[in-house]
Amino acid sequence: MSNKSEYSYEYTHILKKDKNCVEKADKFCEDYKKFMNSAKTERECVKYIISHAKNYVEFDKNKIKYIKPYDKFYINNRDKSVVLITIGEEPLDNGFNFVVSHIDSPRLDLKPNPVFENEEICYFHTHYYGGIKKYQWPTIPLSMHGRIFKEDGSYVDVNFGEKDDEPRFIITDLLPHLAKEQENRTLREGIKGEELNIVIGSIPIDAEDDKVKEAVKTNTLKILYDTFGITEKDFARAEIEFVPAFKAYDIGFDRSLIAAYGQDDRVCAYPALMAELENVKPKKTSITVFTDKEEIGSEGNTGMVSEFLFDIVEDLCDIAGVKARDCYRKSICLSSDVNSAYDPTFSDVFEKMNSSYINRGVVLTKYTGHGGKSGSNDASAETMAKVIKLMDKEKVVWQIGELGKVDIGGGGTIAKYMSQRNVDTIDVGVAVLSMHSPYELTSKLDIYHTYLAYKAFLLNE
Ligand code: MN
Ligand code: MN
Repeated sequence: MSNKSEYSYEYTHILKKDKNCVEKADKFCEDYKKFMNSAKTERECVKYIISHAKNYVEFDKNKIKYIKPYDKFYINNRDKSVVLITIGEEPLDNGFNFVVSHIDSPRLDLKPNPVFENEEICYFHTHYYGGIKKYQWPTIPLSMHGRIFKEDGSYVDVNFGEKDDEPRFIITDLLPHLAKEQENRTLREGIKGEELNIVIGSIPIDAEDDKVKEAVKTNTLKILYDTFGITEKDFARAEIEFVPAFKAYDIGFDRSLIAAYGQDDRVCAYPALMAELENVKPKKTSITVFTDKEEIGSEGNTGMVSEFLFDIVEDLCDIAGVKARDCYRKSICLSSDVNSAYDPTFSDVFEKMNSSYINRGVVLTKYTGHGGKSGSNDASAETMAKVIKLMDKEKVVWQIGELGKVDIGGGGTIAKYMSQRNVDTIDVGVAVLSMHSPYELTSKLDIYHTYLAYKAFLLNE
């Protein structure tokens, strides 16, 4: 070895390593954008995933007496998370290949008693979900998604404010002329939680009748009843999410990037879904999980703290006559989640050499966490070695990535909930700019190579 290139390694633009992937990435991302436009919430994602998992059979441990290679199953957890399984050729206790992404994203939820009128404007009270910068949410078009139960026990699924002929909703902000005091607030307080009120109406039910109290609210409730058959009481038995009404668009003269709402983490969920659906004859059994509640700490029975997934694995193991713990020990999990891409405009918070960059490929994140890696999974050298070997073998362009400078902040993923089960786990996903904003930015080449990464993992290991 005599020259520099033999001793050193450089992470580069994907096109230096895979010259011919622009067209393939473009094609892949056309369908990705359609997915982003049609499935903006965890419930809509579950619906999308199950409707595309055509040759998957619902897993029912009481009906399934034995399993054989290439059997495909799905399990729907309360319409908010879903698991897809493809049985491999090898026995289960040779280990599973897990790919776990999340399908919830930061957003504005409605409070249980949300409707109010103030000076003849009708509003919804909201409670934000996940880590948002609150000042980013006023003055952008919002749409309404969710499920509302009625008195009679039936429910209505709402997806309103997305179609061209439907109205949008909006949060107001103060004009700069009168914002002198507001501008002295910290950015964190620029818009306060209780100021995230969504405008939903301004016409009174009967302008001539002065005796009607809260005539605008009454009119708005009447429209809600006429449109969805719901009353004010029904909001107490509902889950309503307001999300940006933006569609996904190509960004840049070269169309190399995509802006869309909720790419954390649907930009990993979609490639994971495609890789799983195309996983026809795997050696090992694949378990592809689309989980909920990651953005609030993986809590609840649809998040990764739930026993749901692990009960399913146990049921599967019972049928096969093996122990779940013997399977976990030999399993690998790709925690399919995004990382923050290096942003040259805000370079201060990044450590250049260990950041992930757009267009440099799928990101292998060894650890996340805060401070001294606290709260992190911290993948072992052995796990990193296995995954890197596979990526190199399959010509997947990959890079490493820390979340940011040491002690500047931090974050976490579902990785630690999988490694708790004695599964070797590593975070593998797409680098994102403006992460957790209403309109996040990613690279098409990265998305495509993330898909290649999951595909290689499911078919090979
Ligand atoms: Mn995420
Ligand atoms: Mn997130």
